[in-house]
Amino acid sequence: MPKGAEKQNLLGLSQDGLERLFEGLGEKPFRARQLMQWMYQRGVVDFDEMTDLSKKLRARLSESSEIRLPSELSMHHSSDGTVKWLFSSGFGQAIETVFIPEASRGTLCISSQVGCALDCAFCATGAQGFNRNLTAAEILGQVWYAMQALPPRANGEPAVTNVVFMGMGEPLANYRNVLPVIELLISDWSYGLSRRRVTVSTSGIVPHIDKLADDCNVSLAVSLHAPNDALRNRLVPINKLHPIDELLDACWRYAKQHSNRFITFEYVMLRGVNDSIAHADELAGLLKGKPAKINLIPFNPFDGNDFARSSAETIRHFQERLRGHDLVATTRKTRGDDIDAACGQLAGKVSDRVRVRLSEKNIRMATA
Ligand code: SAH
Ligand code: SF4
Repeated sequence: MPKGAEKQNLLGLSQDGLERLFEGLGEKPFRARQLMQWMYQRGVVDFDEMTDLSKKLRARLSESSEIRLPSELSMHHSSDGTVKWLFSSGFGQAIETVFIPEASRGTLCISSQVGCALDCAFCATGAQGFNRNLTAAEILGQVWYAMQALPPRANGEPAVTNVVFMGMGEPLANYRNVLPVIELLISDWSYGLSRRRVTVSTSGIVPHIDKLADDCNVSLAVSLHAPNDALRNRLVPINKLHPIDELLDACWRYAKQHSNRFITFEYVMLRGVNDSIAHADELAGLLKGKPAKINLIPFNPFDGNDFARSSAETIRHFQERLRGHDLVATTRKTRGDDIDAACGQLAGKVSDRVRVRLSEKNIRMATA
């Protein structure tokens, strides 16, 4: 390897990529699987400890490659069991990861970008603007840390049973790096999660919903938040590029391609904005009879934002109204309030940021 050249980071590299690397070293492709098991199942990141690889191979690997984890800045425990990590993303910036333990599962909420360009009106990440895409190593590194830090569940399963792309950033705007991460999450040689237990949440980048349907049938969550284009244009500006009709058509194509598996529609409850009974009826009109479930999210306030959370009673009435239309509707419990770990509050620490906001050109650039 030429002097001064950066070593290749093997964390987050796809199985194909690793197989090519070993072939280049004159080794059999199955070495890739061995390496994946060391990195992800045993949490080993030092080539020297990988005792079923020959000494010579280990030396050659460390000449040209490394296993580089994101650096952990802090780990906070909430009184309700929620855990939040802050990882450095360089240049004084940070991204966040949240673990939410429940009786039946342990969900890790991971970030895919530093900031976000899509500028949804009620989102703390959007309020910071976009800085950059995370690499596959930085995304998967969040899972690696959580798997290492958290004790196994009572039944012996690893602590993290589910992974959701609901942290900072829009995962489908960083498709190139998110796809290999999804593949590694579900691969039997790494974390081996079932496809149903990996959820990609998107505000609606339609072409990439279709791509995801072709590439990988994990669970899909769509941030709908409004039942008509006029309101959604205001709350979720990507709607101006991909309006509700277009978005829902992509959702039904996605569901159809995956044996009509239900799609989750997220709907943030904003007082006096999208939470009336008329809104519930309009929403039901869009989703009735479709493979859809609705998850109502009580708005989580943050500084510098004028929205307010709908009252518990309004949320209950809205949910009941949806159920009256024979729709599956649930309300998300707010967790980790004392450590600012709730949905939409993940702001990390983005100083020195480049404020890039939604424009057709930026979206094309960010999703290329
Ligand atoms: N960018 C993706 C995933 C990250 S956001 C997306 O938008 O789907 C994860 C979820 O949190 C989304 O449904 C988002 O709309 C919601 N959210 C954002 N800000 C929020 C807030 N302040 N309160 C409650 N939910 C919020
Ligand atoms: Fe980005 Fe999602 Fe926040 Fe919208 S809600 S600004 S898409 S992170």
